[in-house]
Formats: sequence, C-alpha cells, structure tokens
Amino acid sequence: MSQHKGSAVVTGGAEGIGRAIAIRLAQDGFDVAVLDLPSSEAKAQAVVGEIEKHGRKALKLFGDVSIEEDVKAAVDRVVASWGGLDVMIANAGISLNRPFHEMTVEDFDRLVSVNLKGVFICYKHAAIQMMKQGRGGRIIGASSIAGKKGMAGNSIYCATKFGVRGLTQSAAMEYGKYGITVNAYAPGVIETGLLDKLDDYHTAQSNQPKGSWTKSLNSSNVLGRNGHPQDVVPLVSFLCTEEAGFITGQTILVDGGICFD
Ligand code: NAD
Repeated sequence: MSQHKGSAVVTGGAEGIGRAIAIRLAQDGFDVAVLDLPSSEAKAQAVVGEIEKHGRKALKLFGDVSIEEDVKAAVDRVVASWGGLDVMIANAGISLNRPFHEMTVEDFDRLVSVNLKGVFICYKHAAIQMMKQGRGGRIIGASSIAGKKGMAGNSIYCATKFGVRGLTQSAAMEYGKYGITVNAYAPGVIETGLLDKLDDYHTAQSNQPKGSWTKSLNSSNVLGRNGHPQDVVPLVSFLCTEEAGFITGQTILVDGGICFD
C-alpha cells in the first residue's frame, strides 16, 4: 500500500473519468470523497468499495456542483472527517451537441451552471480551505479539447471549457503564493457515459446504428483510437504529486494527438 498522501475530493466521481481518477488517487495514497448527484448513488457506492479495497478511507457525498452550499458542505465534511483537504478534482461536467441556432438559453444556463459555475465553486472552496491550512494543495479542473479550439455543434460546451482555462490560469496566479497549484486536464475523445449520450444524438440524426458515431471518432487523432478514462488518470495522478509542484496554470491535453499546443 502506498504511503498516506492526504485527502481528495473528486466531483462527478461516480462514473467515467471521475471514477477512474478517484480509484487512482486511492491507489496513490489519498483518502477520497466522491461527490456526485443523488441519482448516481449505486455507482458512487461501487467506487467507494473500490477505494476501500486499496486500504484508503472513502466518503460518498451527494450534491450538485452548481450549488455553492453543496460544495461547501462537501469540503466541510471532508475536513471534519479527515482533518483537511489536499486535492480538489473539479471533474463533474455535462455535454450537449446541437447546431448553434438550435441551442436554447436554457441549454446555455444548464451547461454554464454545471461546467463553469461548478468549477468556480469547487476551486473557490478548495482554495479557502487550503489557504487556511497553510500546507499548499492541488486544485485540478476538467477542461477539454473543446477548451482549446471551437468545434461545430459544440458551441456552449466549448465556451464552458474555454472558461475553465480562464478560471485555472487566474486561480493559479492568485494561489501560487500559498503553494497551491491549479491546473486542468483537457481530454480528447474518451469513451464514457457522456460520449455515449452524444452518440445517441448523432446516430439518431444520421440514421446510423448506435455506436457508429463513436467508432468514427477513432480516426480523429493521430494514434487512431478513442481514449478511455485510464488514459487520463496518469496525468491527473502526476499533477497531484509533490514532484508536479512547479507546474501551475496549465490546461494539459490528453487527446491522442487531436490538438497541438
Ligand atoms: P460522465 O458523464 O461519464 O460522468 C460525469 C459524472 O459527473 C457523472 O457521475 C454525473 O452524475 C456527474 N455529474 C454531472 N452533473 C453533476 C453535478 N451538477 N453535480 C455533481 N455531479 C455531477 O462524464 P465523463 O466523460 O467522465 O466527463 C468527466 C469530465 O471530463 C467532464 O467535465 C467532461 O466535460 C470532461 N471531458 C470528457 C470528455 C469525454 O470524451 N468523455 C472529453 C473532454 C472532457
């Protein structure tokens, strides 16, 4: 078992990329709190079981990242249970593909609320706690290739993921003096529930069999395959280490070579 490293919160940790990060951080030596929606109870419970298998403590917390009291309560609970917070992974996010002119103001509000306001709230409450503790910390958010370049049919999502880069750069500048690094990961096409919902939409539009849109994306990067959550976790794991302490303000691509910075 790895040496104990501290405590972490992973939002959207019940499935997909968040689930894989939560389990990896437990392997790395962190006690991990999974914060997700109540509708993900069974999946969150399964992740808690995986974390405990690695000999680490786990908390299953329910809340919506776009509601400040929920996030604050989650941070407070972790601090009350484990004495502090060392890592915040602001991973929870939602997606929607539609032509620009078919998106509604309600779609805009929903995507911005979860993907951008949610990350702001998580960064804020992690930073407040970490500054109070005075022992540094790691704050990490989920951006995307859609945060590096505009994408047709993905306008609002892109805007939120560009926004995560802005929050990340600004927070890094404010919290560097406290030894807190702030970075984001920018995955490419990763096969998860989120991608599966987009596949439902695209295959219905094109009358193609379910899964064919996802399959077509295999050729979108230079490695010729879609990614999986396990492709994203080594970067996030590294960003949480002491050795990564000189990296801050970055939004780092993990996309098999779609975008080149
Ligand atoms: P997913 O849909 O598989 O999992 C997302 C998790 O977040 C779910 O457990 C869900 O219940 C939770 N969640 C959603 N809204 C929430 C809210 N308001 N409060 C708390 N929890 C909430 O998604 P994923 O593919 O694992 O994506 C994780 C992150 O990575 C997202 O921010 C996403 O935008 C980003 N990302 C994903 C891809 C991809 O191809 N899958 C690519 C780039 C970026």
